[in-house]
Amino acid sequence: MKDRVRLLPDHVANQIAAGEVVQRPASVVKELLENAIDAGAENITLIVKDSGKTLIQVIDDGSGMSVTDARMAFERHATSKINSAEDLFNLHTKGFRGEALASIAAVAQVELKTSRETDDIGTQIIIEGSEVKSQEPAVHPVGTSIAVKNLFYNIPARRNFLKSNQVEQRHIIDEFERVALAHPKVSFKFIHNKNELFRLPKSKKRQRIVAIMGKKIEENLVPIKEETDLIKVEGFVTKPSFAKRTRGEQFFFVNDRFIKNSYLHHAVSQAFDGLLKPKTHPSYFIYFTIDAKHIDINIHPTKTEIKFDDEYSIYSILRSAVKHSLGQFNVAPVLDFNKDKTMDTSYSSNKNSAKIPRVEVDRNFNPFKDSFSANAIDTKKSVKKDEDVWQNMYSGLEEDIENTTVDVEFESDLSSGNLFENTETEKTSLQLFRKYIVCSLSSGLVLINQHRAHERILYEQFLTQITQEPGSSQQLMFPLCLELGNDEIRLLESLKSSLELTGFMFDFSKEKQGEVLINGIPGMLTESQIYEVIDELISDFKAGIPDSGFDRNNRLSSIMAKNMAIPTGKTLELEEQQDIINALFSCKEPAFTPDNQPIFVQLNAKHIDKLFLT
Ligand code: ADP
Ligand code: MG
Repeated sequence: MKDRVRLLPDHVANQIAAGEVVQRPASVVKELLENAIDAGAENITLIVKDSGKTLIQVIDDGSGMSVTDARMAFERHATSKINSAEDLFNLHTKGFRGEALASIAAVAQVELKTSRETDDIGTQIIIEGSEVKSQEPAVHPVGTSIAVKNLFYNIPARRNFLKSNQVEQRHIIDEFERVALAHPKVSFKFIHNKNELFRLPKSKKRQRIVAIMGKKIEENLVPIKEETDLIKVEGFVTKPSFAKRTRGEQFFFVNDRFIKNSYLHHAVSQAFDGLLKPKTHPSYFIYFTIDAKHIDINIHPTKTEIKFDDEYSIYSILRSAVKHSLGQFNVAPVLDFNKDKTMDTSYSSNKNSAKIPRVEVDRNFNPFKDSFSANAIDTKKSVKKDEDVWQNMYSGLEEDIENTTVDVEFESDLSSGNLFENTETEKTSLQLFRKYIVCSLSSGLVLINQHRAHERILYEQFLTQITQEPGSSQQLMFPLCLELGNDEIRLLESLKSSLELTGFMFDFSKEKQGEVLINGIPGMLTESQIYEVIDELISDFKAGIPDSGFDRNNRLSSIMAKNMAIPTGKTLELEEQQDIINALFSCKEPAFTPDNQPIFVQLNAKHIDKLFLT
């Protein structure tokens, strides 16, 4: 029989390798930026179209390449950065595998122009799917420009796998920020679809962090510095009072390379132990300098994880450096999380004290009738004392206790009108553990989780406002001023139109970049809650931005509802309990919160009797 083992053709091998190196447009951005840095560039421009799906171009003023190097650069395992295996243990460049350009050229259409200082004229190469289409002399300033077009054009399956533009753009921004934070001495420009997203002049670390994260962070940066024989640690952590719910802004750099390391992350968390509000995280930007022989960068194809040979020592050095700074800069002792939150937000005015939004319900309100107006929520109409919507609604329902799904046709019941009939029963409900509302029905008992119930009520209300009927807005006499990071501003911009329908009114300051002026807020929100609601909105949307209109509105409504719903632990007057019960059972889906948690549990006579069986 004939031998069957063959070597794969180069373009196939390259495509396979590309699977590891090029996962998404952001991977290309990372590789190209790192090549520019390795080439000693001082000015780098990144141009992206359609979140990298159409174009990713990096222009640098680095060393440039010779005619032969330009051609060689696209061969697999072609690199100028290492010569021998020993060099792997003494790396000073970002790249060293010589795989990136070959992989990128295997899955895209690439146009390279380059020229060195010593060259009279530069060179241009066009490669598509590993195939060199042309190479000819071309005029180009010293440096290199690589344009990567139509990524995955020849692998439809991979192309279809790409996420929405917003998600891919988020990844690109993440990569860009990592490289830009690691190299403050290099100036960067980032243009996306003709908008300039970042213009970062050459600067010190601190200014670079502020330029990327926004002005708000400036006064919250606490410097850290520690130098031992083994390692130098410098950079910044943010004050505990600045801690956020998002975990995004946490950066370690080792010899100017962004890395992830959960062990070292733990060291920072330990240093903050006891200083943070629950569920909040400090931001940090920590730069390590260490002899390359003590690290191994070789364990991960995309190189964000590295190994230290003495991780344990580095852990303690880092932890004590952070602890020391927090103490030295007097951040630790002045913490008082019980004080009014509004005191340390950056609002320009704090005239309202915090209050829990009251549930105000129009009991005649029928969300399924066209005549529904948003004002119905805000105006409390007089209601007949003894009407008992929910009691009637539930009489006769004999469901199992486990089965909280209520498949009753609330919609039709509601519009039939007889639910509102007079019954002689007294309104009965009571609060349990300041968490549940207990009410009796003719068929038994219902236990309602007050927070979840209110969440559902608000959720439906916001969703209606966004999709059908704008909510009322309370105009603020003194606009509130929030300072946000660039990312956060972009996100708010994209949410602006939906947020306005819920009653938020805001403008982006023209004079001061990063400033948002809030002129109006939803009727039921208090000023002191705004910061928290916006913080939560931003952190949630950052985690993954839904693309379609419905998902977006859905998410927005559910985040706002979650944040504005009355909390567990709040005492409710009888009237408030009743308002919640009535509003809940006027909802489209009273049984579950928007994220599918049960809102109430029923105990019918059978269940109760069972409890007494001996
Ligand atoms: P690696 O970076 O691992 O060496 P790449 O495939 O990214 O591999 O690049 C291959 C080679 O092409 C590099 O070693 C470098 O010599 C050259 N090169 C790539 N990009 C540039 C650039 N922007 N400027 C100068 N040389 C470059
Ligand atoms: Mg490279």
